[in-house]
Amino acid sequence: MSTDVLIAGAGPSGLSLALLLLRNGLSIRIIEKQSQFHPGERGAGIQVHTTSTSALIRVFILSQEVHLLPGNMRYFAAPDDGKPPRISTLVQPMDDTPDRPMMNARLLGQNTHEQLLREHILANYGVQVELDTELRSFEQHSDHVVVHAVKTVGSKPVEITVTVNWLIGADGARSIVRKQLGLSFLGESPQMEAVTGDIHVVGDTLKQDPIDGWSIWTQPDNATSLIVSMRPCMVPGENLFQFFMGGEKLDTLKISSNREELVKAFHEITGRKDIAFGKLVWMGLWRPNIRMVDNFGKGRVFVAGVHVHSPTGGQGMNSGVQDSFNLAWKLALVHKGLAPQSILDTYSGERTPVIASMLNMTTELFRKEFGAKVGQRQDFYRGHELRQFGINYRGGSLILDEKYTDKNEPIDPYRSGDDGTVRAGDRAPDAPSLTYLDANETVATCLFDVFTTVKHTILIFPGSAGENFVAEVSKTLREYPSNFLKSILVLPRSSTKLPSPLTDMTVVDTEGYAHMNYAVTEDRPTVFVVRPDGYIGALITSGELGLRRYFSSVFL
Ligand SMILES: Cc1cc2nc3c(=O)[nH]c(=O)nc-3n(C[C@H](O)[C@H](O)[C@H](O)COP(=O)(O)OP(=O)(O)OC[C@H]3O[C@@H](n4cnc5c(N)ncnc54)[C@H](O)[C@@H]3O)c2cc1C
Repeated sequence: MSTDVLIAGAGPSGLSLALLLLRNGLSIRIIEKQSQFHPGERGAGIQVHTTSTSALIRVFILSQEVHLLPGNMRYFAAPDDGKPPRISTLVQPMDDTPDRPMMNARLLGQNTHEQLLREHILANYGVQVELDTELRSFEQHSDHVVVHAVKTVGSKPVEITVTVNWLIGADGARSIVRKQLGLSFLGESPQMEAVTGDIHVVGDTLKQDPIDGWSIWTQPDNATSLIVSMRPCMVPGENLFQFFMGGEKLDTLKISSNREELVKAFHEITGRKDIAFGKLVWMGLWRPNIRMVDNFGKGRVFVAGVHVHSPTGGQGMNSGVQDSFNLAWKLALVHKGLAPQSILDTYSGERTPVIASMLNMTTELFRKEFGAKVGQRQDFYRGHELRQFGINYRGGSLILDEKYTDKNEPIDPYRSGDDGTVRAGDRAPDAPSLTYLDANETVATCLFDVFTTVKHTILIFPGSAGENFVAEVSKTLREYPSNFLKSILVLPRSSTKLPSPLTDMTVVDTEGYAHMNYAVTEDRPTVFVVRPDGYIGALITSGELGLRRYFSSVFL
């Protein structure tokens, strides 16, 4: 078998998974049924959580002028009565903090996001997305999967058969992989239709304003479910907007038939004939579906990003990417024969409650904005939990927490995460102002630069136990595959000790952020095991014993 993993679908979920598996040294193929890449902005709201897990996206966002999501929405009457708009807050901008260096969501068009991933994958691993190639069926065996696809060459369909170790369906809402695996797609499909897409606006009749740039037209007194939304795309040098036009009585088929019908409908509904339009980038029909799989895979075949929801919360793409982060490291270890196949069950076990909670939240937002009975519409303010800091796998079968041991405590997989607690199963926070010695030169770093998507990072806070504790932990770590572990000794700022030869790296917590953000006191020895997906797998106070307990579930 020359290909370890075949990924069907080159959206953000499939491409993120591809990159993570390639970094792990697996060989992959990515097939995409479309003949060209989608040009639309669609899932542009990047939640911070995604940026902290995806170093590539974080680095890109930091190196470019990537704008924040507009904080406010301007509500006009439809048709516009010339009165000043009502301003409603979408998200409350917050200051960055040392544990959350990118507090506010950014706007990065899904088209640009995907292009960035594709280019990186091609440049660094020589893997190109195979367009015009549609997965049709597969047969699963105990040690391989046979995949049947159809590739269009010229105008001719050519059947191809590929034998791989693993098949991943990142093939979206209508996933054929999901259907063939016989997974249920639980949920509902509310009655509503909309037309969405991206269009250029000529002149300055609509503001590309990062705070107040999002304009919405609705009927006075919320008399109908009609809504027209124009969100600035904030693409430098372009007056581009993502439009969304929905309502029960709209003739969406006619509106979406061509640019002229779209513009006509916009002018009729909003009354804003002064707004002139330029090039239409794309448009398509959108129908609300609120559904998810009951299981994320079976045997050697898994799905990623196979859930659909209202875009009101800006969660969908982010959640698909996080599916991929959860799956990638587990699949890589199993494929290399280092982890038991049963660890793959925890992919579904960890992601199912998170996605179910996400669907509940985005559906509530959807009902407020679109589905509410006439006269009951509310604005869709996005709460803190939608920043995704609080998503957690607490209490999961793979998670070990020796500090917080109350098994009866209720678990909220989509908690807001603003209560200052840090437990096993939570997203690992950042900590800046760490320094280490490199060739006799003091270098500053932060934890997000230390974590990798391939290795578990073991943060050792020695407390008052000192060298013996570090020696015991380091000796235990040597029993596990060294290529997949990275140990960091975190010394308190008061420390005058030299780097430890026992760990891969020694840092001094110069400003005390690591101790503070991980809620560690300078006297109590504590070990955090941060997984390759950026979650805390274990919070250990017992040292050797705890490490053995945690790694016995991970490594064979
Ligand atoms: C207007 C709008 C705004 C949105 N805003 C946000 C937002 O702000 N934030 C957010 O997180 N999400 C948002 N979303 C949702 C986001 O766009 C989706 O969640 C995202 O596209 C899902 O990514 P994915 O990779 O899982 O699936 P997809 O993007 O659907 O990719 C699946 C791919 O698989 C391909 N495929 C399907 N079947 C096959 C097959 N048999 N063989 C080969 N290839 C196949 C498809 O052609 C497609 O390219 C928005 C969506 C819309 C419509």
